[in-house]
Amino acid sequence: MSIRLYNTLTRRTDLLPEPPGPVRMYFCGPTVYQRAHVGNARPFVVGMWLRRWLREGGYDATLVHNITDINDKIYEAAPGASAKLAADATEWYLEDTADLGLGMPDHLPKATEMVPEIVRFIEELIERDYAYAVDGDVYFRVPKDPGYGRLSGQRPDQVEEQEPNPLKEDARDFALWKANKPGEDTAWDSPWGRGRPGWHIECSVMAEELLGPVFEIHGGGLDLVFPHHENELAQSNALGHDFARIWAHNGMLQFTGEKMSKSLGNDVSLREAIDEYGKDTLLMLFLGAHWRKPMDFSEKTLQQATARAEGFREVFRNPSEPAAEGEWERLAAALDDDFNTPEALAIMHGWRDHELVRRGLELFGLAALAESAEAPAEVAELAGRRQQARADRNFEEADRLRAEIEAAGWVVRDADDGFQLVPR
Ligand SMILES: [Zn+2]
Repeated sequence: MSIRLYNTLTRRTDLLPEPPGPVRMYFCGPTVYQRAHVGNARPFVVGMWLRRWLREGGYDATLVHNITDINDKIYEAAPGASAKLAADATEWYLEDTADLGLGMPDHLPKATEMVPEIVRFIEELIERDYAYAVDGDVYFRVPKDPGYGRLSGQRPDQVEEQEPNPLKEDARDFALWKANKPGEDTAWDSPWGRGRPGWHIECSVMAEELLGPVFEIHGGGLDLVFPHHENELAQSNALGHDFARIWAHNGMLQFTGEKMSKSLGNDVSLREAIDEYGKDTLLMLFLGAHWRKPMDFSEKTLQQATARAEGFREVFRNPSEPAAEGEWERLAAALDDDFNTPEALAIMHGWRDHELVRRGLELFGLAALAESAEAPAEVAELAGRRQQARADRNFEEADRLRAEIEAAGWVVRDADDGFQLVPR
């Protein structure tokens, strides 16, 4: 078995090595200055699912997901207290992603913990003539890299200017190190004076430190292709070696059509999304969209996801029916082919074999849907009393008991042989 994934760099689907690999993965993580947006959960979810699927297939898979805790956005959000905000927002991110129930990446490095390694990397770039210091800043010399633009598809002469500064040799050059400025309350010593790393350099350093200079998969949102990933690739290649083999960019989450209801508006955090819709519905929503495609986040798509989750619960309220031969292999073929989760979901929807459905749901952290919902004894007792009240034609009492059952989080349905209780 071998897995293929679409590669932004080669613009085709590329094969991973045969198991056990290894498959080393680096997925860019959040900049921590507020509670993470629900869209930021997508690279996390894709990375965690992919790691699980690779391990299922016998791969030795490792996932690194970084925390960007040095950044302009953090200085702007908490003038004079940026380190405290970054530490708090890191905790929020870890809590909220843990609540998705998918486990955690193997490494969650923070930029603040890698500054000495970052300084060494920049020194090496200067020694190799790929970078230069000016006024306490250090810039990467873009014209030295003839391949610059190959990931994002920009022509070298048309690259947009990043980080304008008249002292730069070339408008396209980007910052590796930034001198400390008034209002920035965190800074580190370096050969170029007090300052802090630029954004792109941390990912080159962390990926190389934790995975080795060359690794199999680099993930992140499609919005990171330029400038972030183009710059990572340039920096790492400048040290004379290859970098990521496959660049896997996930599509963006988009708010479409009607406004979201309730108080959430269109700026929904991961925390709010979990609290409002539940993690099973949320994961079902992610599962129904191909990882490379945009994903609609709307009342309509959330309702569809809720209905899909309910459809799987319903399977476990009915007798198991053995599946035909080769059904698991059909699912495996869909996932091996560019990790096609909508296809896998459609296949799983056709199954009535409890063991098989449970195994499939477990892959995506949805095993809770397979726990056949057993109502607690006191709820079952209420339902029994309601059934009796109906038999006595005491409908007022039956309605009162139904309301009491619903208040306890259950819905009672009349069935041929009495009643059925399902979670609300
Ligand atoms: Zn990154």
